[in-house]
Amino acid sequence: MDSLFLRLFLISSQKEAMVVDILSNSNHDPLWNLLFSRDLYDWEALLVTTLLDSFNDIFLSRSSVDKRVWTLESFGMFSSKSFSNPLSSPLNPDSSFPHWMIWKPDASPRVKAFSWTAVLGQINTIDMLQKRSFMHLSPHWCFHCHEDGESVHHIFLHCSLTTKIWSYFLSRMGLKWVMPKKVTHLFSSWHWYSVSTKSKMFGECLLHTIVWSILKERNNRIFLQHFEELRRGN
Ligand SMILES: [Zn+2]
Repeated sequence: MDSLFLRLFLISSQKEAMVVDILSNSNHDPLWNLLFSRDLYDWEALLVTTLLDSFNDIFLSRSSVDKRVWTLESFGMFSSKSFSNPLSSPLNPDSSFPHWMIWKPDASPRVKAFSWTAVLGQINTIDMLQKRSFMHLSPHWCFHCHEDGESVHHIFLHCSLTTKIWSYFLSRMGLKWVMPKKVTHLFSSWHWYSVSTKSKMFGECLLHTIVWSILKERNNRIFLQHFEELRRGN
């Protein structure tokens, strides 16, 4: 409610109040005692009217304790399962996020956690660091190929070195592959049909292993180069 009526929330003098604190009865009709830190402008008064109208459809039990209820779970308490199920539902526009391919494979939790970060695009690649304006890194190029700027999609998908690694494995598995534009598309399109369970497990782990190995090689190049520069400086 505070996000829907943010303006009213900001000027409210009851930010931490519960329903029982601001509700009183008048001839069995609910009376809301909303208090604000100053007088309202006309357009803010209209917001209050809209807010009170939105309460009309809410059932208030006068015999129950005022408490938070997690409506996605039958017993009213939060559970991660009740939250993840709607997120993975086909009806959810974000269901294309490849949760299954990230968390299901039998890879190390550390590796899977990294893959999740890569899919979200939250790795500290040089383009990300430069966007934080105070990090003026030079050179800004990819440490694999020195041909293009470093971004999460470049180092894992489109770098000339990375392309050779993907081609090496995919050609040996008899697959023809067009590299997608984003890392999330790589994970969501990495399906293994008509193969044995063992081959499927291998293929799913292989995806994580390649991504992890590319990161390790990239880090080695950055830090070894830095070490070499320090050594030459001495
Ligand atoms: Zn590159």
